[in-house]
Amino acid sequence: MSTFATLWAELEPIGRDSHTGGYRRYAFNDAELQCREWFTSTAQARSLDVELDRNTNLWAWWVPPGVDPQAKALVIGSHLDSVPDGGAFDGPLGVVSAFAAFDQIVASGLQPDRPIAIVAFADEEGARFGIACAGSRLMTGALDADKARALVGRDGPTMAQAMRDNGFNPMTLGTDSERIARIGQFVELHVEQGKGLVDLSEPVGVAECIWPHGRYRFTFCGTADHAGTTRMQDRQDPMIAYAHTALRAFDAALLASQRATFGRMEVEPNGTNAVPSVVRAWLDARASTESELKDLVEQVSTAALEATSRNGTTVEITPESITGVLEFDRELRSHVANSIATSLGIRDVPVLPTAAGHDAGILASAGVPTAMIFVRNPTGVSHSPDEHAEEADCEVGVRVLAAAVQGLLA
Ligand SMILES: [Zn+2]
Repeated sequence: MSTFATLWAELEPIGRDSHTGGYRRYAFNDAELQCREWFTSTAQARSLDVELDRNTNLWAWWVPPGVDPQAKALVIGSHLDSVPDGGAFDGPLGVVSAFAAFDQIVASGLQPDRPIAIVAFADEEGARFGIACAGSRLMTGALDADKARALVGRDGPTMAQAMRDNGFNPMTLGTDSERIARIGQFVELHVEQGKGLVDLSEPVGVAECIWPHGRYRFTFCGTADHAGTTRMQDRQDPMIAYAHTALRAFDAALLASQRATFGRMEVEPNGTNAVPSVVRAWLDARASTESELKDLVEQVSTAALEATSRNGTTVEITPESITGVLEFDRELRSHVANSIATSLGIRDVPVLPTAAGHDAGILASAGVPTAMIFVRNPTGVSHSPDEHAEEADCEVGVRVLAAAVQGLLA
């Protein structure tokens, strides 16, 4: 068995639900702690120095003799946690590939002149505490430590409590500028969460940018009433206004090849036999450019205003977070693309935008040169037990990651 296949087989059963086949590796739960143990023993088997940073991200360092440990490191890796009932590949593929690529680099006899580190960022999906990329955001200061400590988990305890219960010290959380200064480059390999590579018939590609995206809270207000005695024409039902808005959001995004999702809502009073008084719904919108994102959100907002004016309800729209387009480092990107071209013997390496957020994006916003390698996903399905990548494609991923690292160190 190849190193990749061996490591993959070790990690695969951890945190997989036997009924759904999906993964439940959430920050500081048993499965996630087991993944951390796997990381540690895998690193120690390679004589790497394992380090837990102040934000609970895990690092495995290789500082060859004679190399200045403070020299800017080349960092590879990804994350080990999952969304609820997520797939096996989102995150772990990048960490397993990093270890397998590391073995190839060592076997090649390369003598790096600076440290190499493998990282597993903590709580990337935010499944338990609600904030994505918490580990990297804390590190860069994009997430405030007090705010993080107070986040309430879906299962009850705050992040601080969950950390304490499992032997972590929540008081160490906070910006880690020293560490960021030590990262020369970060290359994250990740399963593609779409079908770009399937369409191009290539096993791997490089990321170009992360689409701008935003989250907006729509609060529709009407009048609570009796579901039996109130005639249909007499109702001020905010659910109906919301429903029209959601349909229009879908159509607008579909027509323009963008993304609009209402994936979360709250209803008051939330009774089967009551016309609701309030519907709160959250729009997640993403588009290829910032002006297209603005247009998309305007179209959805207009739809909401029209729908509410038709049935005597109101709507208030509050942007909760808006993130601009993030372009990965041009030089590093083209270096990675050249490595892929050379090692696979192809001329045109696919360059893909992505509409998903990643730790690489957080680091890039903090000024770290970052690049991403995507591995083909045959169905494009992600955040689902059906997420998949063929083993042969994963092995290509390992090879090109190793080639990219060797190229950067040569
Ligand atoms: Zn991921």
